[in-house]
Amino acid sequence: MDNELHTGPFHDGSARNQLLDLALTRLGNGSLPRTAAPRIYAGPAHDESCSLCGFPIRTGEIGYEVNSPSQGGAVQEYCFHIFCFHAWREACEPRLRT
Ligand SMILES: [Zn+2]
Repeated sequence: MDNELHTGPFHDGSARNQLLDLALTRLGNGSLPRTAAPRIYAGPAHDESCSLCGFPIRTGEIGYEVNSPSQGGAVQEYCFHIFCFHAWREACEPRLRT
């Protein structure tokens, strides 16, 4: 079963620029970290909400988990779909854009 509700509207590869725009917006308003975090894990997801698109990363999909230290020393956790993770990385590093 693979329908739009399960994967979100951005994950068919045709709207990559929309994800990138969203990532840039979130970097701009501070809701995502600007730099690649020192610790990044990829592993099976458990219905976490994606920090970029807001859709759940469904159990059985691979999710990327990013731990980023914030001001004050607390560690902030972010979870991403694979597509969302790459969009975020691209937004962080404009040189990667082709
Ligand atoms: Zn996502």
